[in-house]
Amino acid sequence: MHRHRHTRVTTAAIVMVALLLIATPAKANAAENKTYAKATSQAALIPLYKEFADEYDVDWTLLAAIDRYAQLTKNKAERSSAPYYGFAFENSAWVGIGNPCEDDYSPAMISLFSGLGQDADGDRLALPWDEADRIKALAYWLDSESGEEEDELAVWNLFQDPVAMDRVFAFCKIFEEFGLEANAHCFPVSKKCNYTVKHSFGAGRSWGGRRVHEGVDIFASYGTPVLACSYGYVELMGWNRYGGWRIGIRDANNMYYYYAHLSSFVKGIHQGDLVRPGQLIGYVGSTGYGPPGTSGKFPPHLHFGIYKDTGDHEWAFSPSGYLGQWQRQKQHIIPQQKTSTDDD
Ligand SMILES: [Zn+2]
Repeated sequence: MHRHRHTRVTTAAIVMVALLLIATPAKANAAENKTYAKATSQAALIPLYKEFADEYDVDWTLLAAIDRYAQLTKNKAERSSAPYYGFAFENSAWVGIGNPCEDDYSPAMISLFSGLGQDADGDRLALPWDEADRIKALAYWLDSESGEEEDELAVWNLFQDPVAMDRVFAFCKIFEEFGLEANAHCFPVSKKCNYTVKHSFGAGRSWGGRRVHEGVDIFASYGTPVLACSYGYVELMGWNRYGGWRIGIRDANNMYYYYAHLSSFVKGIHQGDLVRPGQLIGYVGSTGYGPPGTSGKFPPHLHFGIYKDTGDHEWAFSPSGYLGQWQRQKQHIIPQQKTSTDDD
């Protein structure tokens, strides 16, 4: 038993030394060729996502969603250590734990140390900033980690954050339904009706203590159609003592759109539903500032807010610029479609 183990260790050491010698030129080349191939858009990566998703039997939308979320939440330090699009493995994970060479790009050495780095394009280098190598490594890792369709566990291990998990799987659904570039927008109130936008972002508020107004108010009559302004999914809906009947929709750029004081939601809409710009989601009202059902404490209007989330914090910014832009665009209203699963 002991003797066997010893032999194996010795053999491994010899192989390691041999590979180190072979690997040295590869490393030098890699350093010289350190060009960061930057995709002009994430959509340019779709063929790579599909190729390696097929190879490792994972969903290509999951690869894309992990990349998207990672990109949107990269902090300054991460952007400088990984100046390329998408998810970046920790260096030690790429080269292999215990690999004495921190920038080892030789596939043979990486594999010897059970690193994740992959050489997808056959240049005999496994480069973390090469899109094909990186995406292949991600697919390989998901496959090895998730085994029996436990994608959730794999994504958890990547980000170790429940919020990240929710977002990644929601992005998957958005990508499946609308693709990677679902960026069209729509003014959130029917332009066929009379409305007045009051640009009051940041103003003080009269009710609920010292709060700042995190949005703008669009005044319109009771029952004026309220429309989703983006592609996205319904992250939250229900009653809130400030917002009344309110709905929150997040898009695949991690922007959160908040619609409050509705008189009602459109029939059949549920948390988790996908929406597209112009889709009817509810009606203008004056609910809020009290327990469920409270209404009429102020004139009917849509309170509309936009929040940006970078992973470590979320903040509101003035939607006025966007609203002005969307107001000038043609509006196409999509009534809520009844589906066979609707039971209410
Ligand atoms: Zn408001």
